[in-house]
Amino acid sequence: MQDLTEGVARFQRDVFPAKAELFAHLAAHHAPHTLFIGCSDARVVPELITQGEPGELFVIRTAGNLVPAYTPAANGVTASIEYAVAVLGVRDIVVCGHSACGAMTALAEEHDLSGAPMVAGWLRHADAALARTAGMAAGPAKVRALVRQNVHAQLANLATHPCVARALAEKKVTLHGWVFDIPTGRVEALDITGAGTALAA
Ligand code: ZN
Repeated sequence: MQDLTEGVARFQRDVFPAKAELFAHLAAHHAPHTLFIGCSDARVVPELITQGEPGELFVIRTAGNLVPAYTPAANGVTASIEYAVAVLGVRDIVVCGHSACGAMTALAEEHDLSGAPMVAGWLRHADAALARTAGMAAGPAKVRALVRQNVHAQLANLATHPCVARALAEKKVTLHGWVFDIPTGRVEALDITGAGTALAA
């Protein structure tokens, strides 16, 4: 906690003054251009990876960057997606997976999650991704494949939300699938076939 308190003091002293004008504008304006859906993993920091300024990214972070498919019952993820797309009018949505994802590793290596039943239940939202890698032997290659398949599966889930389906039909929003590689800092943009191309070097 001491580190956090010192960080806040450093922010107010060294960082905020240079951005005071931006924050003064943001005080009355909230118009992010992108909904960024990433993993809660502490190593995957959306604003750092994209060098986005405050006000640019509307961020949802969940374990395994999972997006439950639409159901009529409201929940935090669904409501946040709807707010970003239907109210704020984001133009792009990124679903970002990452290397060494604990959630994907647990699934790929069939970890015993009996001590974390909520995690086990939540990870069922990756069932389609897991099904696509069912034929692979457990190991690093399967984790890598699952991370990618999971981004595709969550983009498909995302498109089941009526607000997203409508924005896609009206060509008001574009979906993107990324994978962040922790040891190299590279971001791979996945294409429809999953082959992928690196974003910058
Ligand atoms: Zn993760």
